Amino acid sequence: MARVVQKFGGTSVADIARIQSAAAKVKAEIDRGNQVAVVVSAMAGATNELVGHVTAISTLYDVREYDAVVAAGEQVSAGLMALALQGQGVDARSWLGWQIPIRTDDAHGKARIQGIETDELLRGMAAGQVPVVAGFQGLGPDNRITTLGRGGSDTSAVALAAAIGADRCDIFTDVEGVFTTDPRIVAKAHKLDKITYEEMLEMASLGAKVLQTRSVEMAMNHRVRLQVRSSFSDAPGTLVVDEEEIVEQEIVSGIAYNKDEAKITLVRVADRPGVAASIFGPLSDAHINVDMIVQNISEDGKATDMTFTVTKADFERACEVLKSHRAALGYQRLIGDANVVKISIIGVGMRSHPGVAQTMFTALAEKGINIQVISTSEIKVSVLISDDYAELALRALHTAYGLDAD
Ligand code: ASP
Ligand code: MG
Repeated sequence: MARVVQKFGGTSVADIARIQSAAAKVKAEIDRGNQVAVVVSAMAGATNELVGHVTAISTLYDVREYDAVVAAGEQVSAGLMALALQGQGVDARSWLGWQIPIRTDDAHGKARIQGIETDELLRGMAAGQVPVVAGFQGLGPDNRITTLGRGGSDTSAVALAAAIGADRCDIFTDVEGVFTTDPRIVAKAHKLDKITYEEMLEMASLGAKVLQTRSVEMAMNHRVRLQVRSSFSDAPGTLVVDEEEIVEQEIVSGIAYNKDEAKITLVRVADRPGVAASIFGPLSDAHINVDMIVQNISEDGKATDMTFTVTKADFERACEVLKSHRAALGYQRLIGDANVVKISIIGVGMRSHPGVAQTMFTALAEKGINIQVISTSEIKVSVLISDDYAELALRALHTAYGLDAD
């Protein structure tokens, strides 16, 4: 007997027919003799609608009430899933975050899970009852409902899997698994059978939207065996595993892109100790995250150019903050550009293979694509380019790294 967590995303519970077919997948797992705990997202579109109701009243809302409202979507889908299971002869009941409870910190709207009480859940499971857990929500130290940030039910599922010591955590979604890159852009993209935690973490944080980044982090830390798979077929999906489990490691496993960044250049800021701190301090005080950073060498030893990226959502605000500190920063000009895309190649094989970045630069050069900013880590290389070339670049790189499906 295995213990399995099955998580169904919004599109997998979008309407009653889909909830019925998701319930059938749970029943099939039970019929194989396994113990199952289910985690559900809200029905597709439900959370957006609830967020819309909140922001229609005020954009400067009380986040505790925001949580009370937006957590409601999962209450509905959890109840419906339990009913569908009962209808198929499976003993099941819904569990809301506060009933278990799933304890979180007090960061309303983006809370972190701190602990899950599992005794009652496990007792029910042992007696043959399927707990249907509302994803995305928890209980804060203030005894109020919290939510885990958009896409957070992935994290609920992984946290639950870790807490009950599940053998597997299946994430059912509307795609067949994790692809080498976005198949809507690159027709030759193919599904990966396996990907390492580290690569998946980079893929998720660099723009692939299939899993919430935090859920991958948690799976990696607790060694939860994750599988991303389609709720519309029975085909195996992508397993997220330890590096040792991958026999034939490609040098580059995947290519991610992120159109959500904007570039800011400060022309001629003073080249002296403390200047970076004086630029990025005010930005961080304003809760603006900076991603890529490059600083040029200065020709005259007096001034240099500083370029960095922020999210598009923070772009205007970042420019305002920098303008209001202009006197202290003493830059000559601020140039902003939101028409950029960040493209990243990812692969743990890079650690042991030289020349991986060079292939990227050559492939882009051959297409006449100018690289504006470069950043690297042990297992990824990211470049910032004009967003006019996003698709061309993705296709060229996919071919250059031998990822095209035949
Ligand atoms: N329903 C929530 C959202 O739309 C959580 C989730 O789906 O993972 O963000
Ligand atoms: Mg999701």
